[in-house]
Amino acid sequence: MEPVVKSYCLECEWEISATDYTADERTAAMVDHAIDTGHDVDSITRTGGADGDGSGVVL
Ligand SMILES: [Zn+2]
Repeated sequence: MEPVVKSYCLECEWEISATDYTADERTAAMVDHAIDTGHDVDSITRTGGADGDGSGVVL
């Protein structure tokens, strides 16, 4: 499994850092946000984000 740097919303400014929350807490927060708002959420991973997007991630 790739290490997640952070999870974020594609439609608003919502995001949650993997350094501050456990994977379970982050997943629960992502689901809550998606259900509450109907927004799509995505995650940035260390190994998967090398193709342009996410290069400016500050931990
Ligand atoms: Zn959102």
